[in-house]
Amino acid sequence: MNTSPHDLAAAAASRLAAWIAEHAPEGIVVLTGAGISTASGIPDFRSPGTGLWETLDPMEAMSLASFSRDPEHFYRLAMETWLPPILAAKPNPAHFALAELEAAGYIRSVITQNIDGLHQAAGSRQVWEIHGNVRESECLRCGYRGKLDLPAWSAPPGASPAGPPALPASSRPDGASGPPALPPRCPRCQAPLKPAIVLFGEPMSPAFTRAWEAAREAAAMIVVGSSLQVAPAAYLPDLARHLVINNLEPTPADERAELLFPAPAAELWAAVPPLLGLSG
Ligand SMILES: [Zn+2]
Repeated sequence: MNTSPHDLAAAAASRLAAWIAEHAPEGIVVLTGAGISTASGIPDFRSPGTGLWETLDPMEAMSLASFSRDPEHFYRLAMETWLPPILAAKPNPAHFALAELEAAGYIRSVITQNIDGLHQAAGSRQVWEIHGNVRESECLRCGYRGKLDLPAWSAPPGASPAGPPALPASSRPDGASGPPALPPRCPRCQAPLKPAIVLFGEPMSPAFTRAWEAAREAAAMIVVGSSLQVAPAAYLPDLARHLVINNLEPTPADERAELLFPAPAAELWAAVPPLLGLSG
């Protein structure tokens, strides 16, 4: 007797849905990482072979030191490499499923290591973005926060991190020719605005403290698309009495997990809401 991949996937979704229904009354929080957003077209820069990160060192491109040293270069490099796929991304079925489960009371909140804002875009309300959100900006001098406004931009074909900046002159707000207005500046004090994300070399955000409390108050946690390699987020599953892990690769917390789903998040989660009587 053969079991088709489709049957196996359906069985996995059923086990996950049953676990969620069982543990929802004790409180479930969900911890998400890059793996939930790969189906939205955002490369996971920790997985080998994604191309971009073999030519660009994320520790350099996304560090406080590089932003502080030359904010214009920081933005030009970002807009030619890691930023456009994030700004263009749309939520996938896993994001929508989590939003639907929250609205129906099955999960309390989402803690995310991602900076893409896709949980909110899918409709999640209680989201702790422990590494910040790239759609927002902050001023390190005066504390101003606001939307991150960048010139309209799409990477030219074959753009490489080492290539010359090629931003269109028409993106200057004053319409004049010449290089566009980078970096964006604080409307209050004119200092360069930093994307509101936790760069390498910065302390954790206050959201991490709130996330820690949310995880401590809930009895159960589901990890989605995180290999749990990055501290301190990697310690959050230690707070859960009941743990489920959905990640393609093994994680250090696997042996504590009651259920393991080494499946693509978007495929697994798309099937869950209908199994709980939701529209899906
Ligand atoms: Zn300012």
